[in-house]
Amino acid sequence: MKTTDVVIIGGGVIGCAIAYFLRKQHIDVVLLERGEIGGQASGAAAGLLAPPGPLTGPGPFADLVLAGFASLAALVPELEASSGIHLGYERPGALRIVRDQKRVAHLQKRFANWQALGLPLYWLSGAEACQREPLLAPDVCAAVYSPAEAQIQASSVVQAFAQAAQLAGARIYPHHEVAGVLTQQDRAIGVYTTQGETITCNHLVLASGAWAAQCCAWFNVTLPVSPLHGQLIALSQPMPHLKHIIFGEAAYLAPKGETLFVGATREDMGFDTTVVEKGSSWLYETATRLIPALAQGTIQASWAGLRPRTPDRRPIVGFLPPWENVLVAAGHNSVGIILSALTGQCIAEMVTTGNTPPLMQNFTPGRFLNI
Ligand SMILES: Cc1cc2nc3c(=O)[nH]c(=O)nc-3n(C[C@H](O)[C@H](O)[C@H](O)COP(=O)(O)OP(=O)(O)OC[C@H]3O[C@@H](n4cnc5c(N)ncnc54)[C@H](O)[C@@H]3O)c2cc1C
Repeated sequence: MKTTDVVIIGGGVIGCAIAYFLRKQHIDVVLLERGEIGGQASGAAAGLLAPPGPLTGPGPFADLVLAGFASLAALVPELEASSGIHLGYERPGALRIVRDQKRVAHLQKRFANWQALGLPLYWLSGAEACQREPLLAPDVCAAVYSPAEAQIQASSVVQAFAQAAQLAGARIYPHHEVAGVLTQQDRAIGVYTTQGETITCNHLVLASGAWAAQCCAWFNVTLPVSPLHGQLIALSQPMPHLKHIIFGEAAYLAPKGETLFVGATREDMGFDTTVVEKGSSWLYETATRLIPALAQGTIQASWAGLRPRTPDRRPIVGFLPPWENVLVAAGHNSVGIILSALTGQCIAEMVTTGNTPPLMQNFTPGRFLNI
């Protein structure tokens, strides 16, 4: 039987970031992952660090996303140095475009809301947008240019957190599925795996992504986290290459070297991660409407993952009442990569101090538990 200070269930970007920040505080950690590290949503993500998308204006969620955006960007040099893994972080800037005059007023309204967030943003006419990104469809009639938006290689971020945590002494076990928990009064005292191994602990962190509700059920707590299927395709970059991240018509195009990621669908498919042909066709057709030069290309790859969805589209991070030493870090919806470093820092602080950092106070499990 193993014993540790903290057991983390889930080896996605959230669990691995938590392991990394706990080890920075010299806390003993065991992370258990059912499959491969980064094998679920975190490995499937596009890696966009594009805060305005999910935000409608200032407020606690905007504060959280903008703080997450800043803390991941600031961590890149340290994480690359401590893991030896290149993260592919870059700031190409983003263009949010419309091709239909009827949509201009809607984009203008969003532009006004986003300006209140304090990010540098510029309103462009269609001609100005096409000058900045010559591959855009000639019928683009307006755009918002946002030079601060960035991207990263999502799968590398997960591997880097895991590698750096492991080099600092974390014990990370892929292919170890947690089957249940051991409890005593209001405390978790350990977990057991499907292989029959027991690990005892002082704290338990549920970082099991779209499967968080199943882990909470072990504690007789119902948390509304459910899977939302998302699919991406990869195309060859046209010549000359697309330079910016492009958002339009409910899709995005992200230039990654010689490749272009196009995402992402949103479908209710339960826990099924199958790639759906209809979704790939929709992504390809939308991409070619926005960038006509892509019509000569073919789909090189397609893949899918399960976003951990919550009813209010906000993450759930904090202690799981009435359990004294059980924490949840799940439900990161479409912003789990952006929020990974900040979530890791906050959970490490909660484990060491027992306090919820002010930024996370609106996002604790309590909001769904009527307490
Ligand atoms: C198509 C797509 C595109 C996306 N693009 C972006 C983006 O551009 N930017 C961004 O910020 N976010 C993006 N996201 C969202 C982001 O991927 C997620 O919010 C994030 O990966 C969630 O991380 P996680 O660690 O909570 O979940 P996961 O990566 O799913 O990890 C949870 C892990 O827990 C494991 N697990 C579950 N139950 C158990 C158990 N009983 N025992 C052991 N292990 C268990 C699972 O196997 C899994 O590996 C995207 C998501 C998708 C699907």
